[in-house]
Amino acid sequence: NEGLGSWPARRARKTPHRTALIHHGTTLTYGGLYERTTRLAHALRACGVRHGDRIAYLGPNHPSYLETLFAAGTLGAVFVPLNTRLAGPEIAYQLEDSGAEVLVHGPASEGLIAGLPDTCDVRTYVEVGADYERLLASASGGAIDEPVTADDTCVIMYTSGTTGRPKGAMLTHGNLTWNAVNVLVDQDLIADERALVSAPLFHTAGLNMLTLPVLLKGGTCVLVETFDPAATLGLIERHRITFMFGVPTMFEQVARQPGWADADLSSLRMLSCGGSPVPTPLIAAYQRRGLTFLQGYGMTETSPGALFLDAEHAVAKAGSAGVPHFFSDVRVVRTGLTPHDVAEAAEAGAGVGVGETGEIVVRGPHVMSGYWKLPDETAAVLSDGWFRSGDAARIDEDGYVTVVDRIKDMIISGGENVYPAEIEDRLLAHPGVAECAVIGVPDEKWGEVPRAVVVPREGVELDPDEVLASLTGHLAKYKIPKSVVLADELPRTASGKLLKSRVRRRYGTDSP
Ligand code: AMP
Ligand code: MG
Repeated sequence: NEGLGSWPARRARKTPHRTALIHHGTTLTYGGLYERTTRLAHALRACGVRHGDRIAYLGPNHPSYLETLFAAGTLGAVFVPLNTRLAGPEIAYQLEDSGAEVLVHGPASEGLIAGLPDTCDVRTYVEVGADYERLLASASGGAIDEPVTADDTCVIMYTSGTTGRPKGAMLTHGNLTWNAVNVLVDQDLIADERALVSAPLFHTAGLNMLTLPVLLKGGTCVLVETFDPAATLGLIERHRITFMFGVPTMFEQVARQPGWADADLSSLRMLSCGGSPVPTPLIAAYQRRGLTFLQGYGMTETSPGALFLDAEHAVAKAGSAGVPHFFSDVRVVRTGLTPHDVAEAAEAGAGVGVGETGEIVVRGPHVMSGYWKLPDETAAVLSDGWFRSGDAARIDEDGYVTVVDRIKDMIISGGENVYPAEIEDRLLAHPGVAECAVIGVPDEKWGEVPRAVVVPREGVELDPDEVLASLTGHLAKYKIPKSVVLADELPRTASGKLLKSRVRRRYGTDSP
């Protein structure tokens, strides 16, 4: 077995007594993880699961999530993580689309499951808790010897769907392994790592930038069911956490906690942040506390790590997402090319010049094999191994890449390209602004002009004109929003990404 399913066995052979997982005061050693994973694999096989079949999982962070992933991998079956924040019909779509035959789920999903349409192929439901434990107890613990290759699909992970219908990215065992190797090489993980896993495991970053690399190295993952900013500082102290991954909003919320200034954060050696643009004021707030962010850029389709900014350059190159991971090739090419021309340009090294904006394209052993059952959508983004990200970026004279924004979110105002993220970054420097989103709205004279949707900090009375005035001198005039709308909150995905399309629908039409 060349796949992920062999990891628990290999770890149990090397470090059976080390702690793999901690969850609510229970600890599981690598030996224990191997035993439980093997029993689960036998039980799933007894339910009829065969090589290539899909097994879905719906629930918050829990040891059974990883046991199911590894058990599926042991059998050559495909693991399909589902996002717990999705509504019934959205879950039903992903179950139907993936054709999952088994669904392992947390107790909280019972109601949702009862309402699933019978177009879903699920035959076996396993509820985490007594049901799941009974299954394990009744199964054999003998080794399973199913041939699995690095090119077999390991996970189908649905993209977060900030645009259009979710697509299932097929990630192979090789993809996930190479990504973990990239993290180990570029991030200097150690065997004594104690990682706080509060980012959801059903998203690529929580699983692949944090949990799997730590487990490959033999460290410990502390699993937290859902991210709670108030509890985070205490968890760091109690478990002497060394490593944490989060999207920017998570780190922002933690820094706003009353205990922030006094918490003992001396155990932390690594904070890694990514998934959306990391605002420079946030980087500065953590630097004042003596903490440096490693920044990562990637996406579900690339398992996800493509670019990485290491500790050595985190301050000098703050704001940049860094350089390609060790086993990754990244180019910034002209936007608007056909997939074939993208591959040709990338291959020839014909990128945009220093300081110009283009599209990020990525190639490497961590790039997905394609979208599940969607050959046309796959051909539109993958050509000769090059994956087009849809993200705009600039490259500096040292080869460091700064992600500008999603190309789709770009505003064209009077012929000038305006990237909302740049404006949002400036707005967040205003002390009264907690969150913001910039969108384009139609304008007779300029075609489109930027509009800021702003969430004020609690208890702050914001004056929109004063907010706009604070941008003068920092941004070109055409980038300064023509209107400001105050809002109570912004729509986000479970991973904290702004749902720009929803912001546009809600605030992009009527005049404010
Ligand atoms: P997903 O498809 O959910 O994996 O999200 C991937 C997208 O998140 C990328 O295409 C980028 O638009 C965005 N993203 C990820 N990391 C960063 C980063 N460090 N800076 C800016 N945007 C990022
Ligand atoms: Mg995406």
